[in-house]
Amino acid sequence: MRVFQCAVMGSGGVGKSAITVRFINGSYLEWYDPTNRKQFSVDAQPCLLEILDTAGIDQYLTLNDMFIRESEGFILVFSLCQRDTFEEIIRTYDAIQRIKLPEGNQRVPIVIVGNKSDLVDEREVDSTEGEKLALEWQCSYYETSARISTNITAVFENIVRQLRRNDSLKKE
Ligand code: GDP
Ligand code: MG
Repeated sequence: MRVFQCAVMGSGGVGKSAITVRFINGSYLEWYDPTNRKQFSVDAQPCLLEILDTAGIDQYLTLNDMFIRESEGFILVFSLCQRDTFEEIIRTYDAIQRIKLPEGNQRVPIVIVGNKSDLVDEREVDSTEGEKLALEWQCSYYETSARISTNITAVFENIVRQLRRNDSLKKE
């Protein structure tokens, strides 16, 4: 079975761990298997996804570079309730392009995630802004809530589909 490696990146407190736990475990903010692997099926085909939850190391840029090198796909998370976290994923995107494009990758699989969609009254970033960025980067955009479990599976299915598409392009 193909094992895909993806990294969940973004500012501290946006919900990277909450999203990972919700996906792996189906629970909210509880302990989970620290290996962060999940076997699941996308489009009736099984795969194993290894998720690097880049917890608490956001400020160490050299470590971030190492995570980027070791991953094939990226889930860039910001909080819909905190504009500066939206700006932060743009910096991470630039780092990904800088590191991945020279490795001969044409297109790097990326999903942009605006988390905490349940906090409707605290929203600072518009849906149209996320959609616009996704159009520019030719990737996908989802608004999620780890708390009430909205769109979590869709995010990971989407990254697997993009990773598979890259595999089939490499074969051609
Ligand atoms: P990380 O630093 O990016 O890993 O963020 P965490 O997963 O630790 O989450 C930071 C805080 O944000 C947690 O204490 C949660 O209470 C809160 N949080 C995470 N996801 C959500 C969400 O979808 N909705 C709401 N309301 N709060 C969330
Ligand atoms: Mg965390």
